[in-house]
Amino acid sequence: MDFVDLKSQYQALRTHIDSRIQAVLDHGQYIMGPEVGQLEQRLAAYTGARHCITVSSGTEALLISLMALGIGRGDEVITTPFSFIATAEAIVLLGATPVFADIDRATCNLDPALVEERITSRTRAIMPVSLYGQPADMDAINAIAFRHGLHVIEDAAQSFGATYQGKHSCNLSHIGCTSFFPSKPLGCYGDGGAIFTSDDALATAMREIRVHGQSRRYVHTRVGVGGRMDTLQCAIVLAKMECFDWELARRAHIAATYDALFSGKIGLVTRMRERTSALAQYTVVLEERDRIQAVLHAAGIPTAVHYPVPMHMQPAYAHLCQPDDAPVAMAMAGKVLSLPLGPYMDPGSVQEVGETLLRAVGESVPGSDEQIMALL
Ligand SMILES: *Cc1c(COP(=O)(O)O)cnc(C)c1O
Repeated sequence: MDFVDLKSQYQALRTHIDSRIQAVLDHGQYIMGPEVGQLEQRLAAYTGARHCITVSSGTEALLISLMALGIGRGDEVITTPFSFIATAEAIVLLGATPVFADIDRATCNLDPALVEERITSRTRAIMPVSLYGQPADMDAINAIAFRHGLHVIEDAAQSFGATYQGKHSCNLSHIGCTSFFPSKPLGCYGDGGAIFTSDDALATAMREIRVHGQSRRYVHTRVGVGGRMDTLQCAIVLAKMECFDWELARRAHIAATYDALFSGKIGLVTRMRERTSALAQYTVVLEERDRIQAVLHAAGIPTAVHYPVPMHMQPAYAHLCQPDDAPVAMAMAGKVLSLPLGPYMDPGSVQEVGETLLRAVGESVPGSDEQIMALL
């Protein structure tokens, strides 16, 4: 069993993917070829945002977004401590300071109730992360930002395809950033990412920053980066968009199967009403996480911990805050465990993972109980 099964996806989509790749090899425009604009139009239409700007990675999407807002030395950005390090890294790289507000225990996302008390005269933006594929409480976060004149950047690296009250992730605030890292719900075959905004001026700034701050050939209006996404990678994402909604539905079906098996027996990261998750991860909450992960490993079931150390406790970031700044994130880092889940996972494997986990925590397995009852 693979934790992320990219081989089955390639087998299923092979003809689409191969012909898209071949088309790029035939026209030879490897940088900013026609597939780049095609993908940007396709993804903008999908999310409802006016602009999509593809970039070289999810990390670069965050960096370029912060640069477009002019965030730098002396500025503060409020974010969650419970994310992949890139969230805080982009802020620090620009000389700004990440200010960590703790997470909500149920969803593991930024707790809006703790954001306002972190706002100072130096705060410029709030950066919630749509962790495991589920958007944070964006209405509450946007309302706080509006009251204080701040921008909201959604780190939607795990949540492309998710919704919040019917609106798509990446189009829930001023700016949304996603990643096409291969193991994300919508992945390419290397590094890639995209920025979404409906603000025309920000979109222009982002397009220029993506290409060394260039407004016309060899005219560099601002300081930028080399942040373009390869034409080949855009072609692969275009091919995968053909069945992306089907894949999301498969993820949701498998998650519902796990939910039914675990109901009342195993702690889960709560998926809220009026939101859908892209289910980048299906994550359970266990008191004896390390012991149970070892039992699953011994049974041949791969799992992962997202994330074992909150960002504010990482050696390179610990000087920015106090260890007791985010007690909920600290607690959850010791309890969360992500299970295998993917659109091409077969029902037998889903059952095997579910039953092995139930046995590991000492809970009964519904199927075998019924079988035992039948035998009696
Ligand atoms: C994956 C990820 C990123 C970084 O994306 P890359 O494309 O790998 O640079 C940023 N934030 C979160 C929450 C992620 O999961």
